Formats: sequence, structure tokens, C-alpha cells
Amino acid sequence: MEYEQLDEIIERAKAGLREVETEAETEAIRVKLLGKKGSLTEILRSMASLNPDERKEFGRRANAARAEIESLLAERFAEVREKRRRLKFESEILDVTEPGKGRPPGSRHPVTSTIDFISRIFMNMGFFVAEGPEIETVFNNFDALNAAPNHPSRDMTDTFYISADTLLRTQTSPVQVRTLMRQAPPIRVISPGRCFRRDAVDATHSPMFHQIEGLLVDEGITMADLKGTLDNFAKLAFGAEVKTKFRPHFFPFTEPSAEMDVSCFKCGGKGCRVCGGNGWIEILGCGMVHPNVLRVGNVDTERYTGFAFGMGVERIAMLRHEIDDIRLFYENDMRFIEQFR
Ligand SMILES: [Zn+2]
Repeated sequence: MEYEQLDEIIERAKAGLREVETEAETEAIRVKLLGKKGSLTEILRSMASLNPDERKEFGRRANAARAEIESLLAERFAEVREKRRRLKFESEILDVTEPGKGRPPGSRHPVTSTIDFISRIFMNMGFFVAEGPEIETVFNNFDALNAAPNHPSRDMTDTFYISADTLLRTQTSPVQVRTLMRQAPPIRVISPGRCFRRDAVDATHSPMFHQIEGLLVDEGITMADLKGTLDNFAKLAFGAEVKTKFRPHFFPFTEPSAEMDVSCFKCGGKGCRVCGGNGWIEILGCGMVHPNVLRVGNVDTERYTGFAFGMGVERIAMLRHEIDDIRLFYENDMRFIEQFR
């Protein structure tokens, strides 16, 4: 039995502990040296063969060696435990100053924003919004609007019929009929909505499109009220400097009827790409409500008169934003839609 054996075990403990990185590795060294079958335990067991004096001295040395190894182990345990905690904190670190993940705000579709734009102008003039169904009766879409039985717009080639007496509305005008049948004058409504016609798709036509219709019925309403209201609309929509002109036209549900042009808000009337070179842009159709239409709503035509107007939403949007192809509205290409944020 040599005391050097004890020194050697201490050296082995120091060398081994320098290498360890984890608590498990540290524990393995503790078992190897101090465990039931550990090196120091073996040595202590062999003390039985020593005489009492030697045993006393060796025992004292061995206990000192054990204490030293235990202290080395405790120190190393603390170090690797601290290291583990530090690594855990670093991996779980939360940087509260890091900017959040941005979600770009959505944008309204240019057709929707144009409907809102036009509606707001008329609502500020005292109009209310009225809506109607996209599937209409033939009566509301044609008969009540004074369309002659042989009117070409009734043709199967122009209209999507669902049955003999229902169809996809070809215009928002049936909302006029619904309003007249439901409400007594004074009436002041606008009705935006989707319409359908059997048009082939090209740069300016689509089988589905949007209109805004307006109807005003009250005592003493004349063509001057129509012109004043729509001229005011044109100036609010396209700029205070635009001029308007009314050209005679024909619609079954108004008499007299007109189309309204505005002077080109882009070139001021000199002629440009937007106005097609002639300085004027056709904006809407309008007229004094035909007495036959008023009678559908049992309106006393001796007492009340009114005017109506209608415009294509896509057309207004195309003019405002200088878009030259109606198909862009329906293709849902985000690169297009996001430009109207
Ligand atoms: Zn122009």
C-alpha cells in the first residue's frame, strides 16, 4: 500500500475533471473514483490488511484525499451546472426590442372604393343608399321601366334569363321600381350594385359589371334640378373646374333623356388620351322619370315629378385611375389591386 496511490487518484480526478463538460460526465468521474467500485473505495477496502498504526495513518490520509476529491467534484459540478444554465438562457433569449412581423394592411378593391367615392358625394347631397337583388323579375327589370315588349335589350342574346319571368338584372334601375313601390315621395336614393349582360369580354366590356343608379322624386322637380345635381356631382368627382354638357338621348324609363359629358379633367378640354382627343368624356345617362314608371309606384304624376341617372362604376374607376382595360378589375392580380391602397 503506497501513499502515492492516493496522490495519483487526486491527480486523476483533477485531470479527468478538466475534460468534463456536463453534469453527467462529472458524475461518471465521481462514480469511477468514489463509487462502490471506485478506485478510492477499493484502496480503503484494502486497508484491512494493514497493522493498526499504519491503518490509522493511512486512513487519515485517505480521508483527506477523499475530502479533496469531493471538493474538486463539487466545484466542477457547480461550473458545469452554471454553464448549462447560461446556454439555456442564451438559447431562450427574447429580444423585446426586435421589430414585430409586419402584416401589410389590406386594400379595398378599386371598384368598391369607386362605389364608396360616388356614394359619398350623393349621400352628402341627401341621398340614401338603397339596394336590390341581383336576381330580378322581368317585370322589375323591363316592364315596370317602360321597356317596350319588343325592346332589343330584352333579347335572349343580351340578357341572362333564369326563367320566363326571372333574370340576372341588366341594370340597377329595378331598384328604382322597388323603391317607388315601397316608399312614397319625397324619394332620394342611390343604388350601387352588380349587373349582368351577355357581352363578350374585351377591354371595355364584361358580362358582369357595376352601376350606380340615382332616383329623386318630389314636388316641383324639373330638368334644372337634374342638371344642377349632376353638375355638382361632376365638379366634386372630377374637379371644380370641369364643365358639363347634356346631349339628348333615349331611355325607355326617362323622358326627356340625356347623356352627360364632362370636360376632360386631364387635359382641360384640349384633347388627350383620356378623352380620346375630343376634350369631352361621357359620364352618365339621365332624364326625367317617365310617368309610366312613377305610376308603377302609384305616385300621383300630377303632383310629383322626378329625375333618374345611372353610371358605370368601372367606367368611372377607369377614368379616375387611367386604367385602359376593364378585365384588370376581375383578375385579382395583387400587383394591380394593391396600387389603390
Ligand atoms: Zn383629355
